[in-house]
Order: sequence, then structure tokens, then C-alpha cells
Amino acid sequence: MQNPHLGRRQFLQHSALGVAGAAAAAGTALGADPAAQPAGEAKTSPDVSTKVEVLVVGGGTAGTIAAIQAARAGAKTIVIERGAQLGGTMTTGGVAFPGLFDAWGKQIIAGIGWELVQESVELDGGSLPDFSQVPQRHWHNQVRINEFLYAILAEEKCEQAGAQIAYYEFPHAIAETDEGWQVDCVGFGTRRRVLCRQIIDCTGGAEVVGMLNLPRFREEETQPGSMLFQLGTANNPGRDHRAPLQRHGHRHYVHGADSSNSRTVTAANLSGRKTVLEMVRKEKTRLMHLQPEASFRESYRIVGETIITVDDYRSGRLFDDAVCNAFYPIDLHTATGVRPEPIPRGTVPTVPLRALIPKDSRNLLVAGRCVSSDRLANSALRVQASCMAMGQAAGVAAALAVAKNTTPLDVPLNEIRETLRRHGAILPGTG
Ligand SMILES: Cc1cc2nc3c(=O)[nH]c(=O)nc-3n(C[C@H](O)[C@H](O)[C@H](O)COP(=O)(O)OP(=O)(O)OC[C@H]3O[C@@H](n4cnc5c(N)ncnc54)[C@H](O)[C@@H]3O)c2cc1C
Repeated sequence: MQNPHLGRRQFLQHSALGVAGAAAAAGTALGADPAAQPAGEAKTSPDVSTKVEVLVVGGGTAGTIAAIQAARAGAKTIVIERGAQLGGTMTTGGVAFPGLFDAWGKQIIAGIGWELVQESVELDGGSLPDFSQVPQRHWHNQVRINEFLYAILAEEKCEQAGAQIAYYEFPHAIAETDEGWQVDCVGFGTRRRVLCRQIIDCTGGAEVVGMLNLPRFREEETQPGSMLFQLGTANNPGRDHRAPLQRHGHRHYVHGADSSNSRTVTAANLSGRKTVLEMVRKEKTRLMHLQPEASFRESYRIVGETIITVDDYRSGRLFDDAVCNAFYPIDLHTATGVRPEPIPRGTVPTVPLRALIPKDSRNLLVAGRCVSSDRLANSALRVQASCMAMGQAAGVAAALAVAKNTTPLDVPLNEIRETLRRHGAILPGTG
């Protein structure tokens, strides 16, 4: 981890030592590859240098939208994703039923997330909910999407917008520069140095914010994660309209699942798969589908310039710097399950820009489930449509901050809102 207060020289020394130490610890064997370093000397110089304006870390639910939006708003953008595809929990985790784009009979979230969802449903020959009807159960209006198609369409949209994608990479050292940030990333066979003006942390658990030693919240006991799979009957993506997580043989809780680092994610995957194997043996049935990774409900949230409380959420507080809507019942899972708590009829919560900005930071935003919020508010804010809307707002704020050579908090709000509106988003307090 890099201390942002170290000077550039100190930072480089620090990172070189770290890499050498890691290679030595791994007992790296070097062959006849001409690009390889002499034995005992770890390579420290980057293979690739990438100069962009906006770096999005994490190409998941929020990060995909943030990257597309930043690029569409004119910023040179790259998204760094540790996995193999875009979409995060929606695709790799298999939670392919984004909600909620509507509240109380009307659409409250649109924009780039909705564009992607809608197009993936249309291409798949699926169907969209009728948002003019207030559903009996909140999940009736979640959209069933084909997660495979969504991930490919997301790539196409990034490409069309001009946002570069780098898979299998993650940051290992970050330092402030006069112009913004220097972010050293690694992937297998790749050392990439990204020089950028703005970072949007969309890792789910605010990992970049953690690397910068900025404060984050975390509960002692977090909500369980889940492993999604299919026993007995064929997986039919985008089609099953039953309650998504209520079906036997489709999911089980992974208690203690923690997305914080490779060790905890490995532990969750091993535990989740082990239980699946036990079920296959016990029920003498076929395993028809298994997601490649467990999905995670809760880890770290940022301490932002403001913190959304559950009272703000329940009362639908219209923040003076609100940049998007959010909607879902309070939805805190415990060891024994969940009992969603609906919010008062007619209420539409909002997300302020300051909840996407780590306290006392510059040139840094977050979007997604790590939004600055208390635990109960977060249990509702973490859902996918809301994460997408936050991603779009962060993408606009970052791109405008680049254009104005300032930090997101100093971008005039009316310009953020006007740009969001032009890119199809629904603004809080309108309509
Ligand atoms: C089991 C379960 C059921 C749910 N049910 C619903 C539901 O019914 N409806 C709904 O709308 N929402 C639901 N949710 C909530 C919702 O899916 C998630 O909260 C939301 O998708 C999180 O979005 P995100 O962008 O914050 O994170 P993610 O979508 O998880 O994206 C984070 C991305 O960052 C990448 N990443 C992480 N660390 C790094 C790093 N250091 N470097 C590079 N990349 C990194 C990850 O690989 C991932 O792609 C559910 C969640 C779970 C777990």
C-alpha cells in the first residue's frame, strides 16, 4: 500500500522494494525469455504506460456505467477490472435481476444503465416490467436479464464510447502527482502505470480509498454473501420470473463472505462450492450451472463528505446536491435470512454527490455499494439500478472535473445535472 503523502521518489523506491520482495517470496523462476530480468532481479519498470483522464477501478455494476459515461462526456478513460468481464455482481456473481428502476408507478432511474438493461432484454427477446403498475412485491419489477449478453453489450458500449478495458489487472500502488494520480497496476505478465487526473473507485468495497488510507466503515459482522447455482433443471438466463433468491437449488448463503482481498474471496469461493458439492451428492441430482465466483453483499463503505442515514433514506430527503434517485426496501440480510422493510408510500430516496466523495479527498470519487451511508441505508442503496445511477453521476462529475481542471466537489452542480440530463439520466426532484 502506498502512502499518498510520500514524495514521488519515495514512492518509486517503496514500490520497487515491494515488487522485488514479492518475486523473491514467490521464488520466481526466470527462463530464456529475452524480456526477462537477470536471475534475482525483479522487473520494476512498467510494461505499459497509459495516460488517461479518468481511471475507473472495478468494471462491475457501477464501474461499467461510470466508464461509459466518462468516455461519452469526452474524457479519455480506462477501466481496470480484476476479473474477466464487465458487470461484477450482476454477471460474474450471477445476480442478474437489476432493480429498481421504478418507484410508485413511474420510472425514477434511466440513463446508461437502463439503456444497457433495455437493450440486453430486447436482444434476448425477453420482457420488461410495466413500470406504470405498482407491484405487490418489490422484486416483481426487477428486470430479468441474460447476464452473458449484458456483459458483451457492456464491452461493446465501452468500445463505442472509446473507454479502454484492461482485464485481469488491479492497482498495487497509488501516489498523488502534481496533475492527479500515478496508479501502478499489475496483471499476469503485465505491469501498467496509469497516469490520470481523476479516479472513480467502483471496486464494491472502496479498495482504492483503503489503499489511500482514507477512512472507511465496516461492521464487525457483515451480511452473508451468496453462491448462485442451478441444480436439476437447465439454466435459462433472463427468463425465470420466480422470486430470484427464494428457489431451492439456486443459491445458498456464504456466511462471512468478504470481498476485501484475494484471500477472503478465495475462502468464500471454496466454501460456496463445497456446499454445492454436498448438495449434489445429497440430492443425487445434476449440477446444471454454477457462477464462477461468490457474490458479496457488504464489506467497506466510505466515510464521505456526507453520510446518508437511514432516516434520510426512509424520508426521501431531497439533498441539495442530489445527483440521482435510489429505490428499494431496507434489505439487511442476517444469518437466518431477510425481511425487507418497505419505505413509506410515495417516497423516493436520493443520493447526494457528497456521498460519492471520500471526506477530505481531491480528484477521487466512488460509486456503487461502498457509497457513504449508514448500514441500514446501505442495505437498500446497494442495489443495482441505484449503483448504476451513482456510476453515471460519478462518470459525469469526473469528466467535468477534468474539463475544468478542478476536483469533483468544485464542479458547479447545475453543470453536472445538465450533463446527466443530456445523457438520459432522471434527476431527483423532477417528473
Ligand atoms: C446474493 C445477492 C443478491 C442481490 N440481490 C439483488 C437484487 O435482487 N437486485 C438488485 O438490484 N441488487 C441485488 N443485490 C445487490 C447488488 O447486486 C450489488 O450490491 C451491486 O451489484 C454492487 O455493485 P458495485 O458496482 O458496487 O460492485 P460490483 O458489481 O461487485 O463490482 C465491483 C467490481 O470491481 C472489481 N474489483 C474489485 N476489486 C478490484 C480491484 N482491486 N481492482 C480491479 N477490480 C476490482 C470486481 O471484480 C467487480 O467486477 C444483491 C447482491 C447479492 C450479493
